[in-house]
Amino acid sequence: MQFAADLHMHTKYSDGRGTIEEMMQAAIARKLEKIAITDHGPKNIGVGIKSPEQLLDIKKEAEQVSRGQNIKVLVGVEADILGVNGEIDIPETIYRQLDLLLVGLHPYVFPGTITDGLTFVLPNQLYKLSEPVRRRVIEINTKAVIAVLRKHPVDILTHPGLNMPIDYEQVARACAETNTLYEINTGHKNQHFQPLSIIEKVSRQGVRFVVNSDAHYPDTVGELQSGWELLQAAGVAPERVVNIKH
Ligand SMILES: [Zn+2]
Ligand SMILES: [Zn+2]
Repeated sequence: MQFAADLHMHTKYSDGRGTIEEMMQAAIARKLEKIAITDHGPKNIGVGIKSPEQLLDIKKEAEQVSRGQNIKVLVGVEADILGVNGEIDIPETIYRQLDLLLVGLHPYVFPGTITDGLTFVLPNQLYKLSEPVRRRVIEINTKAVIAVLRKHPVDILTHPGLNMPIDYEQVARACAETNTLYEINTGHKNQHFQPLSIIEKVSRQGVRFVVNSDAHYPDTVGELQSGWELLQAAGVAPERVVNIKH
């Protein structure tokens, strides 16, 4: 299957290894028409960008680097969820100036408040201890994601279920309601978070999908085939995958 776009990747500005230009050249070599540079929000411990404002500099650089090139380079962010009330680490004044808003659950974030630390970040470090804790954490994470989707104009929910358990069907319904794309992520070696049985259930909620590489190196930009194979096995029609070349 031919893809036109890869809308989730990182550069040296967060924990990626390539520059914007290197990521773009890799995408051109793979015949993509469009990419999005989406570095981690500033509250992602140890890997986030310095400040939300840095995204505006990244946008300027992307415009300069891509001028005259045969590809469109969008700039967005992969914002972090900071608590259960819809808080993310990028203010509206900044994300309104970007091309895309991606949001994902990541376990190692600076919580929005002390309460968020105790009720959201900490339990996520403990959920493997016991089944009751895990069930409680699923409730917390599901609530946190849905609150964000209702509060912000999120374009893509990244890697649902990765490292932080969720109720997939509830999350997928919220994606469908809020017109948020459900990401199939090909960049994480551990693919247990998106097994076929789950993707079949997710698909039944009526979501639209995007397949993204989440590339942290130029080498893996546009490596999306395994995502299509998964969707195809789940019976998803290509028309429901926004970045397939039609
Ligand atoms: Zn992520
Ligand atoms: Zn990412």
